[in-house]
Amino acid sequence: MQPVTFNVAPGITAIDTHMAGRDRSTAAYLLHDEETTIVETGPTTSVEAVTEGLASLGVGPSDLANIVLTHIHLDHAGGVGRLAVAFPRATIWVHERGAPHLADPTKLVASATRVYGEERMTEWFGPVEAVGQDRLKAIQDGERIRLRSRDLEVLYTPGHASHHVALVDSESGAVLIGDALGIHVPDLPVLRPATPPPDFDLELALDSIERIRSRATSVLLFAHFGPIHDIDRTCDLAEQRVRSWAEAVREALETTDDLDEIAERLARESARDIETGSEAELDLDALEERLQLLSSIRMNAMGLTRYWTKRRERAGGESSQPS
Ligand SMILES: [Zn+2]
Repeated sequence: MQPVTFNVAPGITAIDTHMAGRDRSTAAYLLHDEETTIVETGPTTSVEAVTEGLASLGVGPSDLANIVLTHIHLDHAGGVGRLAVAFPRATIWVHERGAPHLADPTKLVASATRVYGEERMTEWFGPVEAVGQDRLKAIQDGERIRLRSRDLEVLYTPGHASHHVALVDSESGAVLIGDALGIHVPDLPVLRPATPPPDFDLELALDSIERIRSRATSVLLFAHFGPIHDIDRTCDLAEQRVRSWAEAVREALETTDDLDEIAERLARESARDIETGSEAELDLDALEERLQLLSSIRMNAMGLTRYWTKRRERAGGESSQPS
């Protein structure tokens, strides 16, 4: 397959990772610098596309200095173990809460298998290989990953996942946002929340969107997929949608705890977003199939159900405490 790359900001090139053979779904980003760096890797099914993309941009096995991850979900980082072997000089940067799960992916794989099932794990993501301890660098909020001519500031942005970070590029003002705002793919220009289990948290997600808004000066780089320049409108929309999806699940939970029914309710919410939010005529069935891979309705329903259940348990625990 011909590598697909395109410039998204001064000194930043997107590489289409062709996750599970699908184009324009998941991006990795190359930061041009003497210390060549990529943000996101895609899963193991993307390793070839990423390696060929890098080669087409003049980055060979001994040239890559850093691999930075926004979070460890398999569509973003499943391929990092194999890429670390292919690029033996690269340091792997990931939030401190995510680092242990790259060194030993047993729990990560078990948790993803519960969500996706064995068959999709193989087809979409492929095997997940461990990263050597000595290659890993655990990062925290506010840290700077210093390259030669630019640096990446770590913005801790939990909500989608408890270990999610966004990265602010000092040179271009671009913010690499992972899944903090949800997903927005070129075929369906409608922002869709990404609220997966086990960590999704509404309040943290809203705070993180505000953090990103306050730091983005030029462009938002979505992992799924590509650049968006209209920062305020996009942040407004991300907040509005994640609130209304959370509210839909909270309402559904008043009458049912059946996941199929809850997912059904969320599917209606999504259909309404698409009706009111998209500019183009769309083949919705084809799109739904593509979106299943990135952020399925069912997975979002699972994450939001878990969030409300945890919150209720917390509130119950508090009210039973003597005051
Ligand atoms: Zn993702």
